[in-house]
Amino acid sequence: MGQQASRYLVVSDTVYTDGHGDPVRLVLNTRTSRVSTLGDKVARTLSHGDCGTLPAAVSDHLADLRILVPEGRDELTDVLDEQRARSRSAASLNYMLVPTGYCNLGCEYCGQVHVRGKSSANHRSAVRDRILRAVHRPSTEEIRIGWFGGEPLLAYPVIRDLAGQFVEACATAGVRYRSRLTTDGSELTMRKLRVLYEECGVDALCVTIDGFGDRHGRVLGVMADVVRQADEFPLLRLTIRGNLELANLDHVDAFIDVMVKAGLNHPMIEFDLRVVPSWTNDVAAPRVARQRFAAAEPRWLRRMHDVGMVTRTLIPGQLRGPICPAVTRSAEVISSSGAIFSCTEHPLVPQHEQGDVLELVEHADHDRQRPAGQYDDWHDRINRGEQSCAGCVFLPVCGGGCPKHWGEGKSPCPSYKFNIQQRLDLEAARAGLTPLLT
Ligand code: SF4
Ligand code: SF4
Repeated sequence: MGQQASRYLVVSDTVYTDGHGDPVRLVLNTRTSRVSTLGDKVARTLSHGDCGTLPAAVSDHLADLRILVPEGRDELTDVLDEQRARSRSAASLNYMLVPTGYCNLGCEYCGQVHVRGKSSANHRSAVRDRILRAVHRPSTEEIRIGWFGGEPLLAYPVIRDLAGQFVEACATAGVRYRSRLTTDGSELTMRKLRVLYEECGVDALCVTIDGFGDRHGRVLGVMADVVRQADEFPLLRLTIRGNLELANLDHVDAFIDVMVKAGLNHPMIEFDLRVVPSWTNDVAAPRVARQRFAAAEPRWLRRMHDVGMVTRTLIPGQLRGPICPAVTRSAEVISSSGAIFSCTEHPLVPQHEQGDVLELVEHADHDRQRPAGQYDDWHDRINRGEQSCAGCVFLPVCGGGCPKHWGEGKSPCPSYKFNIQQRLDLEAARAGLTPLLT
């Protein structure tokens, strides 16, 4: 059978010279996330589709890399089937928990409504029962708990109480336990972090930085302490997420300077800059922000790399699980209100707390996963061509971004869709390739 170029290739526009002075291009295969350095002639052959002219040895090599695939192969179906299978697996169960509806910051972009007040008397025990039941299901191999909010650390005693029981139950049942906490850091101390890490099984901490103003001095101090005592947290993945809006895009260079000054250019910390989604109907400002971000991001990535700040990979990695909680019944979001949702943007947002509740945790059957949500048929929707994802070269690594935002008419495409060529140039520079001057 003949071979054809995979539809999931991105060939660099730039021609580089390798160590022998030969002209080469980079070829990204988004099905494997692998970047290959190929001779310019071979790369151009892949772009133009006449792969039958390639020598047999070259074809075999490219087939091994899945750059060539059998002629007539329906790769879209393959990709969607792989993504569906990950969504249907019940081996890894993901619970996103909102332990409090209150937040002590008032970030302008946030669409949540934060109120003080306790959840109902039975809320905590219902959450505990639901997750402990899931731990003991024969199909369960892994439990993932995400704490987010509101500001989850305002409910630190609740986290400590529940997580301690989850960790113990998983250890007894031989189930892997992973936990991520997303915080603005205002309530974080070294003492709490030690407890979260050692007792509560938190192995990923994401500190969000908004506005890049002066109010972050304290949390950066805590981060600097963590870095100094990195040996105490060998398994902790620490992320600082810079939330960007149109108004603070010009402050990114200053943000980088502040991080370096604080000593946070350390291998333990990964930086993730992203444009925050709009919670309003204003789609124009976020669109402009995303465009400006995508244009400037390669320069920031290069700068951060040069000063030793770890960033998310230049080349988008392979999806390891479902694209998000909303497309799998193996994931659910439990609000402090007691409502179970499928989407992380539903809790604490009045419109969703009223209209999109799937069931209440206190009334739920804990032997079953959540009821179907709005986006559980996501892969079928892609297949039907309801968005532009079916024809997109990034579908294998992106999975369609965010079903909710597509539904609201907001494009959720990640920045790499718009700046992949500059990313390949950075990748080439790191690999010692130099652009061929023509
Ligand atoms: S639909 Fe979008 S907002 Fe909701 S969980 Fe998925 S990625 Fe997040
Ligand atoms: S969300 Fe955008 S980048 Fe992702 S698959 Fe869809 S069209 Fe492609």
